[in-house]
Amino acid sequence: MHKFLTDLHTHTAFSYDGRDTAVEMLAHAQKQGIAFFGVSEHFDYDCDKTLMHKAGCTDWLDIDAEEYFHKLRHLQEDYAGVMNVLVGAEFGYSKNADAQGRYVLTYEKYRPDYVINSVHCDGGLDFAFTRFTEDKATVYGRYLRLVRDSLDAAYPYDIVGHIGYIARYVPFENKDFSLEEFAAEIDDILKTIIQKDKILEVNSSNKQLSNRTLPAEPILERYYQLGGRKISYGSDAHFKARIGDKREEVVAMLKRIGFTYLTVPCRGEHIKVEL
Ligand SMILES: [Zn+2]
Ligand SMILES: [Zn+2]
Repeated sequence: MHKFLTDLHTHTAFSYDGRDTAVEMLAHAQKQGIAFFGVSEHFDYDCDKTLMHKAGCTDWLDIDAEEYFHKLRHLQEDYAGVMNVLVGAEFGYSKNADAQGRYVLTYEKYRPDYVINSVHCDGGLDFAFTRFTEDKATVYGRYLRLVRDSLDAAYPYDIVGHIGYIARYVPFENKDFSLEEFAAEIDDILKTIIQKDKILEVNSSNKQLSNRTLPAEPILERYYQLGGRKISYGSDAHFKARIGDKREEVVAMLKRIGFTYLTVPCRGEHIKVEL
């Protein structure tokens, strides 16, 4: 097992909310010495365009999948022997069978190197644009049920993205998912991830939160206690300056818990990288 720098959750200008081009992002990642760099562009078949626009997200656009995979496969070749570029995708989970069917088709057509499965939306509207009016137990209870449902998605995926994402946008004073309050739901999610041999993401994009990561440390500790060992690190960078953000901090936390390696998924293979 070798020590390498990794970042498996990033977005370039191919995503509507990504700022820097893929060329700029890759050049910056290489300069930082990253050995496994994953681009995981947004595929938002979970979003309802009308609802998103009405809620104020007027720049939201579907990705041009053809352009994205074409360009990134070329860049992947250009970087061969220099940096392992993984051409991935972040699929936004929806209960909707049509949306899940579209993900299956996208997967079969483009064969991304890996897929991050993330819950961003409930009923077609991203949590970032949702006005929450119910109490914390109701909002979080429903969110955790969606996360649990997402683990049974009809399409293939490797990584379970940023559990706790909703907490970035809720109006509650204490946004933490306490293990006491949601113990059964969280245990069910973590046990299912382990049983399905998926990888749990530690996402360092959380500027609105007091927690340093998504999910927060107590959930990662619980995952470890339950026997979970497969973890990936993702900055969720949407511009180059955030690539690798808080990586050292995440690594220190994971080591404190007991983890000894990260897992990099690539075309079905799980590569172990020493922490
Ligand atoms: Zn996401
Ligand atoms: Zn993302």
